[in-house]
Amino acid sequence: MARIPFVDPDACISCGLCVEAAPEVFRFNDATVAEVYDPTGASEEKILEAVEGCPVGCIYWEE
Ligand code: SF4
Repeated sequence: MARIPFVDPDACISCGLCVEAAPEVFRFNDATVAEVYDPTGASEEKILEAVEGCPVGCIYWEE
């Protein structure tokens, strides 16, 4: 099964890079922190770009 990404909302600084990298997967919620709304909305490779691009490293994988 594919890995599922998730965002630690307490650590997110709302920079928007993940939303820019994979808008099919990440969006800003009402509290203006990033959240995963469709974990399979993009390829794992594309999601990995967002994970690696997060400046505070607050996007994690769940098996
Ligand atoms: S890249 Fe990281 S810090 Fe930036 S909005 Fe996404 S989860 Fe938050």
